[in-house]
Amino acid sequence: MKLAVVGHPIGHSLSPAMHRAALDALGRPDVSYEAIDVTPDDLAGALVRLRDAGFVGLNVTLPHKSSVIAHLVSIDDAARAIGAVNTLSLDAKGWVGTNTDVIGLARSLAESRVEIDGARVVVLGAGGAARASVVALAPAREVVVVARRREAATSVAALHPHGRVSTFDALEEPFASTDLVIQASSATLGADADVFVRALPLASLASRAVVVDLVYRPRETVLLAAARAHGLKVVDGVGMLVHQGAASLERWIGRAPSVEVMRAAVERALG
Ligand code: NDP
Repeated sequence: MKLAVVGHPIGHSLSPAMHRAALDALGRPDVSYEAIDVTPDDLAGALVRLRDAGFVGLNVTLPHKSSVIAHLVSIDDAARAIGAVNTLSLDAKGWVGTNTDVIGLARSLAESRVEIDGARVVVLGAGGAARASVVALAPAREVVVVARRREAATSVAALHPHGRVSTFDALEEPFASTDLVIQASSATLGADADVFVRALPLASLASRAVVVDLVYRPRETVLLAAARAHGLKVVDGVGMLVHQGAASLERWIGRAPSVEVMRAAVERALG
């Protein structure tokens, strides 16, 4: 069986190390998993070539997570709501898509004993990760989406029955009542992470509040370090990464891989 992750660039992907470790632990040397660089203008052709070359499962990463949908025979409800897919499986008619980021986040939060049933949640960001988060937060009592672009925030908030929007300059009020903050933007990834985090009113958060950062490189982001310094419980993005990968692999091979083996492989790769 041939599996791969496709993206552009793809050299930084942790998926090959994570999936190979899981397949080794399952005793499946017959299953390969490789990283394949596919440029945006070659995406349609690459999907045909990969199918013809015997690939039956693909992870899809940036920049193809939304644009790939046009080349699929079907997508499931979660992928449709998010407008992005990260997992393709080949069936008799062609490639079908799903999005395991939703289950990845839900399982990561459950594993960290973070209760979302009835919780008040603030989601920072309005990209694909924020959309997946809001879908995963269906059992929450309220979801406040905060983003630079109001239109994008409104579209993400509409994914939740009790969704509303706020802005970065009015965070004290939603922070004061929230149980959970999910940082789902790429702001803690870059050189300006410090500036972004200093502007957040972390002191307004109640002591029960949990802070999650979906960015996993670095594993302990500036936000998680600051939240920890405020005495708050934190959850990093590695859990979501590992659980979305495990859910993809389970779809393809029909067996649940070891999440712990996958986590250890990611931690080794992150150094
Ligand atoms: P997108 O590019 O789709 O969205 C990025 C979002 O971040 C946009 O809303 C953007 O706002 C916002 N943003 C960027 N910089 C800033 C800033 N300085 N201040 C405020 N908002 C900012 O990316 P994704 O949603 O796919 O991914 C977001 C992050 O989540 C990534 O860094 C990725 O590493 C992580 N991720 C982790 C996963 C995991 O498994 N742990 C899974 C998927 C993603 P604007 O539109 O205004 O630019």
